[in-house]
Formats: sequence, C-alpha cells, structure tokens
Amino acid sequence: MKLFTVGPVEMYSDTLNVASKQLPYFRTKEFSDIVLDIQEKFLKLLKAPQESKLILLTASGTGAMECAVMNGTCSKDKILIINGGGFGRRFCEICRIHHLNYECLNLKFGESLNEDKLMKFSGKGITKLLVNVHETSTGQLYDLQMIGNFCKENNISLIVDAVSSFLVDYIDMEKMNVDMIFTGSQKALALSPGLACIAINPKMERFIMENNVESLYFDLKPYLVNMKRGQTPFTPAVGVILELKDRLDNLYNYGIDFIVAEHKNKADYFRNEIIKLGLTLPNYPLSNGLTPIIFTNGKAYETFLEIKEKYDMMLTPNGGELADKVLRVGHMGNLTKEDYDNLIKCLKEVL
Ligand SMILES: *Cc1c(COP(=O)(O)O)cnc(C)c1O
Repeated sequence: MKLFTVGPVEMYSDTLNVASKQLPYFRTKEFSDIVLDIQEKFLKLLKAPQESKLILLTASGTGAMECAVMNGTCSKDKILIINGGGFGRRFCEICRIHHLNYECLNLKFGESLNEDKLMKFSGKGITKLLVNVHETSTGQLYDLQMIGNFCKENNISLIVDAVSSFLVDYIDMEKMNVDMIFTGSQKALALSPGLACIAINPKMERFIMENNVESLYFDLKPYLVNMKRGQTPFTPAVGVILELKDRLDNLYNYGIDFIVAEHKNKADYFRNEIIKLGLTLPNYPLSNGLTPIIFTNGKAYETFLEIKEKYDMMLTPNGGELADKVLRVGHMGNLTKEDYDNLIKCLKEVL
C-alpha cells in the first residue's frame, strides 16, 4: 500500500527504525536534553523570534487547535476566524463550545481569501485571529504575510494552525507577525500520530501566563514552566518525541528553504501531469502539501475506491458536500517522483 494521504503518510526508514526500539524512561537529564534540542531546532525551522518557546502536547492536531484557542484567547477577546472549509469550521465549533465571542470570515468553496475581504474587519475591535493557513479540506493556502500585516496594523494577535503547512509551505513566524503556531506529528513531519508542537512568541507567552484556563490537561502554564528544563507536566508521547528528534536532526541539516522547495517540486511535477490528463485544479492558491483534483463528472469518491482496490494506492477522499467533487493527493512524507509516475499511470487507466 502506498499512501498519498495527509496523515499518517509514508514514513522514512530512519523514523521506522527509531519507532521499533524500546522506549526509555523520560524523567532524566538525557531525555530533557533531547527535548531542549527539539525546541531549538523546531523554532529555527519556523524562523521564530528570540525567546520564543515550544510546547510539546500529547494530542492530535485538533487537540492543539482547542488548546491554542483555550490558552491564546479569553472571554474579553473579539475573535475573527477565517472559515474556508472543514478545519475553519472546526475553529468555529471550538469557539462556540468555549462560549467565546467570535465572528467568521466565510469563504465558499472555490473562493479565495484576499485583502478586500480581510479589510472589512479592519477597525472592528478584533483582538485575535484564527486561521488554518493551509485549509486542508480544499487545499487552499492563505497568504500568511497578508494576514500577518493586517493583524499588525490592527493590533491583533495571530494564531495559526499550520498542521498541514509546516515544512511544505514557507512560514516565517517573525516576519509574518505570528504569535502562536502549531503542527501535528503525522502530517509533513511524517511521524506517528499523537504529538502536537505549539510555538509561541514572548508576547503570547505573557498572555498565556496571565490567562485563566479552566482545564487541568490543556492549561499551558505548567507546560511552559516544565519546558524550561526540557520536561512536560504529564507523560508525553515519548516514542514520537524520539522520532521527532531524529527527523529534526535530519531536516535541520538541509534548512527550511530546501525542504519547502523539495515539496514544491513534487507538487508542481504532479500538477503538470494532472493538467496533461485533462483534469481540473482549483483557481485559488494551493499549498505544496496536497493537490485537490476537481471531478466535474462527480466521480471523485468512485475514483478513490477504484485506485485503492485495483492498485493498492491510498489517495485522500473528501467528506461532506465535496465527497464526489474533490479527490486530494498528498505530497507529504516519503514519496518520490517515481511514486507519482506510478500514480499517474493508474489514473490514466481508470479515467
Ligand atoms: C489534520 C489537520 C488537523 C487535525 O489533525 P488531527 O490530528 O486529525 O486532529 C487540524 N488542522 C489542519 C489544518 C489539519 O490538516
């Protein structure tokens, strides 16, 4: 089985090797050193400002979304959510459940975010902005620099879900005015699921340390205190942390620009071939993390099943109203040009 999914994805042999080992006990100096090294490398890959912090939270990406909202906002805030699909809707749900004061900038399928739409919310007293920089349900990549500039001009704190964007799209936490940003282990990091990485700048750290969060597990204050010595308040996903250490050591040698360029090359290569097949891509800007193929004949889900059963390849189907319309092909994890050539051959046969 070959995974062209967005998490779990094809893992690297080094990661599989790390994952096969007995886990160590973690309340040790040795484990603390590993965690502190992860913090340093992770923040550098994000171009985080000086004195930024990393939190390792044992949770899925959605756990990180909820945790970010609970800690990064409070009842006094007026929150704006960019809602362009399934993950934007999830932010709205979280804010509703936590009785927060929020508004949505809704984008219909096919509609892209632009400055005009954002400017309608200028001068409206917004204090926090939540965005899934790559809305994974549609593949749309929002212009984070544009959003960051808007936030800076309006004195808004920016909280970014980069679960499917970290490593595949270009992110500069400092330049783009991002206060809090997070990812999950099973997406482009290509690790086992279960670990969320949340980076915060000093301004957000100050906010969190004064925020009253009504949760034992999701209150980030003890995480920040423990992180000073490379520890977590509760037993973390020890195995995934060791996978992360191995992967970051490797990625760090290449540098973020190279890594993003590699993902872009794969995405561009595949998209070119898709267009040659006469298939349709959306008009909005795309993340390098996945290619959404639009099926004007309504056979997206049917094609997903056929490719899975006939060729043992797993593409990423859409749920809800896009199920028959959009089929997504991931560009994360251990996939090569040859893998895409094979997929194109299969697509040619079934179409
Ligand atoms: C996958 C994803 C999530 C949720 O991750 P889970 O691990 O499935 O909870 C959140 N946001 C985005 C943008 C994602 O792509």
